[in-house]
Order: sequence, then structure tokens, then C-alpha cells
Amino acid sequence: MDTPQTLVIGAGMVGSCCALHLQRAGHKVALIDPHPPGSQTSYGNAATIATYACIPVNHPKLLKSLPKLLSGSERPLSISPAYVPRMAPWLLSFLRHCRRERVDQTISALGALLRHAEDTTLALVQSAGAGDFIRRNGTLYLYSDANSRLAAQDDIARRREQGMSITEVEADAVRELEPALAPIFAGGILYNDGFQLSDPQQVIMRLVDQFAQDGGEVIQDRVDRIESAGLDQVTVHLSGTSKTVHHAVIAAGAWSTRIQGPVLDRLPLDTERGYHVMFPENLSTLSRPVGLADAGLYLSPVDGGLRAAGTVELAGLDAKPDPKRLDYIEQAARRALPSLKQRGDTWLGFRPTFPDALPVISHSSKHPSVVYAFGHQHVGLTLGAVTGKLVQQMIDRETPMVDPTPYRAQRFLS
Ligand SMILES: Cc1cc2nc3c(=O)[nH]c(=O)nc-3n(C[C@H](O)[C@H](O)[C@H](O)COP(=O)(O)OP(=O)(O)OC[C@H]3O[C@@H](n4cnc5c(N)ncnc54)[C@H](O)[C@@H]3O)c2cc1C
Repeated sequence: MDTPQTLVIGAGMVGSCCALHLQRAGHKVALIDPHPPGSQTSYGNAATIATYACIPVNHPKLLKSLPKLLSGSERPLSISPAYVPRMAPWLLSFLRHCRRERVDQTISALGALLRHAEDTTLALVQSAGAGDFIRRNGTLYLYSDANSRLAAQDDIARRREQGMSITEVEADAVRELEPALAPIFAGGILYNDGFQLSDPQQVIMRLVDQFAQDGGEVIQDRVDRIESAGLDQVTVHLSGTSKTVHHAVIAAGAWSTRIQGPVLDRLPLDTERGYHVMFPENLSTLSRPVGLADAGLYLSPVDGGLRAAGTVELAGLDAKPDPKRLDYIEQAARRALPSLKQRGDTWLGFRPTFPDALPVISHSSKHPSVVYAFGHQHVGLTLGAVTGKLVQQMIDRETPMVDPTPYRAQRFLS
């Protein structure tokens, strides 16, 4: 094959969408990943295209509920004491972003991307022949008691301000929508436009198959280092070889800042780990994803059964999975859905997260040939397609569909 003009690093949802958008705009593109496409964080998530998810985890309410979240029996959030010293700067910055004015900036910047998520995702997924994985039945989000429902009103109003279509659902109506749920909820909301990809990895594989059929190169290797090769080229070092290209797009999710080189900025990326527990015999227990607001997880009907996915664990990329987190998810899922049968596979994934809960979609400040596309925290499946389009528009110097200012790397550089 001829040398590609553009190398996309990482074949998760974000990288695969970047590769397809760049190819369709006429670039000669290679996509590189040591693992099969869509097999890392984009594999085991809650599978929702969460077009409404503009409220970040670090939020004014987090500060008030932090002691309870960390020490109570309900623990949607956990922090590893051993990891705290290493992540202290990130954690302090994350908590500083709980201030109202910062959160409002995040909400409007996420909202701007999310407003394009439905159209761009549907168009890309359908054009790659993966439309059969789309399930459109809305997403239900439930509160365990009246206080938590009341406390959510402010967030509901902010989501509506961002243009999200929301129907409030009373407790009785919850069971009409999803009869398998236990009668323990004080009501909730239906996100009318939320939808699902019933098997995220299969969707990504179809995107990458389409990319390859249309002439894209798929390379199974790891990028270690990127160096300048002049004013408008960089040399990308793989494990045993190197490639000189006009553009290198870093979309390596939570591992993006492990790539080294003088053309890269130091960016404060860490990971919010999350887990899933599968219930393979519960294939048709729910007809749509159901979020349990107070437990911090989703019950999501996917192709392999019912997937209970979520929670946040701050423990870095290298710590082993904590079985207590899986037990917590299983117990919360069984409280909500008493008909759950035997537990099946479990999974740990690594959300890539910046302290302000916004991705970096931006040129490097050190070299114009390097473009960053990572840090999509809880919404990378949702924002992959819109990110891919934005990256293509930045590289081609077209008018961007969204003002890219809030996603610039420069916000972390002084
Ligand atoms: C429990 C849980 C539930 C979630 N639910 C949802 C949801 O319902 N909806 C939603 O929108 N989001 C959800 N998310 C978040 C979403 O899964 C992530 O934001 C998204 O998968 C990130 O995609 P990515 O492409 O950036 O990263 P990844 O999917 O992790 O892909 C990164 C790729 O880069 C590759 N890579 C790493 N280092 C290198 C290197 N040096 N060289 C080459 N390649 C490299 C990796 O092998 C990997 O394939 C959830 C996450 C979790 C953990």
C-alpha cells in the first residue's frame, strides 16, 4: 500500500468515526490499533446514544454527597486510597469543576456536541450497513425516592434548555412502560430521543469493515512515539516500524496520553473506571435502557442479554478489577429487576476523562500535524460520530459544525 496521508491512532468508537469521516472527505487514511476494533472501552458500555447526557458527574451536588457516596452502603463512586497520591492534581481540578459557573460552561459545551449526536450517528452507522443495531425506544431514567426526584428538577430544566426532549413519568406509569421493574421507584423521566446500539462492538466492526472496503488501511500495531518531520509532517513510531504522515489523529481513549513525543502537550487525562455485569438469560426483560439515577448505573437490553453497566471508580489504568464493584452492580440491578437470572460475564472499562468533563478535540499546540480526539468520559459512544466530523473539518480547514473553542487543548496549557 502507498503511504497514507493520515494516521488515526485507536479503533474505538471515536477513532473509527474519525477514520471514516476523513476517508469520505478524500484523505488516504490508515487506522492503527493493537487490539480488534471496538474491543476496549467502546465494547462493554451501556450501549446508549445518550443525546441528553450534558450534565457532568462533577457537579455542585457531588461535593455535598461525596462523604455519603464514599462511605455509605450505596456506592456508585469509589476512590482507591492507593491511587489518590498519583491522581491528586486531577482530583482537585475535577472537584474544582463542581462550581456552578464551571458546570454551566461544561453543560453548554457538551450540549453543543450532543445536539449533533443523533444525526451524525444515524448517518454514519446506517451508511456502514449497521442500521440493524439501532434501537429507538427512548431511555427511561428513574429516581429511588421523592427527594432525589425533587433534587433532579434543576438538572432536568438545564437539559431542556439544551433542547433535549423529556417527558416526566409518574411512579405508576413507570411500571406500565417497563412491567418487569420492581415497584420501588418514585417516578422518573423518559428521554424521548435517547436510543441504543444493541451491540457497540459489532457496530464499530462494521464501520471499520466499510472503511477497509473503501480502501482504508487497518494496521494491528501500537503507536509508541510521535516526532516532528518538518513543518507539515510527523513521524509516527510503531512497535517495529515508523510512518511519516501529514496528520496523526490521537484517538486512543484513556491511553492517549501514554503516547510520547516532543510534538505532544502534557494533558491532564485520567480515567473513570466502570464495570458491567451481564445477565444472558434476560434477553427481553426490558424494552429500553433504564438508568438508575441513585445507583449510578444503567440496565440496558443488548444483543447478548441484559447488561447492568456503570458506576465510577477512580483507581487508574493499572489496578485489577475490584469484585466488590461487581457485587454492588449486581445487587442494585436485582433490587430493580427481581426477575434477573444467573449472572454471566463481567467487564471493566476505562472512560477517558479530563477534569472539566469535556473532550479535547484540537490541534496540538506544538505541531499542526497532530490532532487530539479523546477524553469523551461517559459519552464517547454518543459523541464518536460528531467528533469524527469535527476532526475532519479541522484538518480540512472547513467551517466547523460546532464552535471548537471549548474543546481546545490550550485550556489546560498555561
Ligand atoms: C461502564 C461504562 C458505561 C458506559 N456507557 C456509555 C453509554 O451508554 N453511552 C456512551 O456514549 N458512552 C458510554 N460510556 C463511555 C464510552 O464507552 C467511552 O467514552 C468510549 O468508549 C471511548 O471511546 P474511545 O474510542 O475514545 O476509546 P476506546 O474505545 O477505549 O478506544 C481506544 C482504542 O485505542 C487503542 N489504543 C490505546 N493505546 C494505543 C496506542 N498506543 N496505539 C494504538 N492504539 C492504541 C485501544 O486499543 C483502543 O482500541 C461508558 C463507559 C463505561 C466504562
